[in-house]
Amino acid sequence: MRPLSYARAADADAAIAMVAGRPDSAFLAGGTTEVDLVRQDVLRPGLLVDINDLPLTWIEDVPGGGLRIGALARMSDVARAPGVVARFPMIAQALLLGASAQLRNMASMGGNLCQRVRCGYFRDTTSPCNKREPGSGCSAIEGFHRGHAILGAGDACIATHPSDVAVALTALDAVVHTRGPGGERALRIDDFFLLPGDTPDRERALEHAELITEIEVPAAPVARRSLYLKVRDRQSYEFALVSVAAAVTVDDGAVTGVRLALGGVGTKPWRARRAEHSLLGRPAGEAAFAAAAAEELASATPRPMNAFKVELAKRAIVRSLTTLTNPDAR
Ligand SMILES: Cc1cc2nc3c(=O)[nH]c(=O)nc-3n(C[C@H](O)[C@H](O)[C@H](O)COP(=O)(O)OP(=O)(O)OC[C@H]3O[C@@H](n4cnc5c(N)ncnc54)[C@H](O)[C@@H]3O)c2cc1C
Ligand code: SF4
Repeated sequence: MRPLSYARAADADAAIAMVAGRPDSAFLAGGTTEVDLVRQDVLRPGLLVDINDLPLTWIEDVPGGGLRIGALARMSDVARAPGVVARFPMIAQALLLGASAQLRNMASMGGNLCQRVRCGYFRDTTSPCNKREPGSGCSAIEGFHRGHAILGAGDACIATHPSDVAVALTALDAVVHTRGPGGERALRIDDFFLLPGDTPDRERALEHAELITEIEVPAAPVARRSLYLKVRDRQSYEFALVSVAAAVTVDDGAVTGVRLALGGVGTKPWRARRAEHSLLGRPAGEAAFAAAAAEELASATPRPMNAFKVELAKRAIVRSLTTLTNPDAR
């Protein structure tokens, strides 16, 4: 039995001050993943600071086409917000394809971005894991790594980033707003998530006691025609083997706008910039889609058990773009 204190913060300043005051403390939002990890003895906080009384629950359409989502907005509320459904279908779909209805009712958007990896060795405290215990080694590299990353994987950690909605937010160039002891910051989502490099225990650019307050999604007319495709071992309640957040516009048969990001394959939500670059200006069709997918996956570093993800990711990209550009293919 380990002692664990619980406190409820009345406002953001109090929450930040309480967490800043103790290096072994953490924020608690919906608790859907934090509590699991404490129970499994993977995380050992001495103090959990409940932030659910903070009024960070807004979901607001911004004039001009953007979106502002408070960090404590629940996944289910964001998924059914009319402005999200109409203007950013890939966000709504990514949320609805994640977790379960009960979890989505509890789980917050800020907590979703901060969830930890699903690597079995990370959650098994008897196995070496550089993410849980820096310098102890990575059990997955020579172990069971069927679900692990083929993009952005290093020698220290090959776990995939688990969030679905983070993939859509990455395709949309979202900005994560934070507030901490050092003041306020706005981080591009691509800078918010870190590659494992030599510090696999550090998954986000957040400092201790830095609170996510809001996720800003800039206007993106291309996203009106967008989707989130999730390929997984079973149809519900399962993380992605491969996922694609895609948006595309076509004029006179040529691709004039495209957003593409991948989940389930990268150590962070993977913006497929090579594929986007390859597609712009090309005639929309399977040949261009397949060429773009091949270009993006050229840098993949598969291992014996997850090599199938390379072909799966290519096919998922082609299928997503075909579905968006040819409604008959749906
Ligand atoms: C069985 C199961 C299946 C799941 N399936 C999926 C899935 O398919 N796809 C998917 O995307 N997700 C999935 N999830 C993950 C789920 O979406 C997350 O557990 C949830 O989004 C976390 O939100 P929360 O509010 O409960 O966070 P909490 O558990 O309260 O917190 C999680 C972490 O975020 C930190 N945190 C919370 N809020 C803030 C904030 N505002 N600022 C800074 N730090 C903060 C906490 O300190 C903690 O470290 C699944 C979870 C479970 C348990
Ligand atoms: S892949 Fe990452 S999380 Fe999994 S055992 Fe290796 S270091 Fe740990």
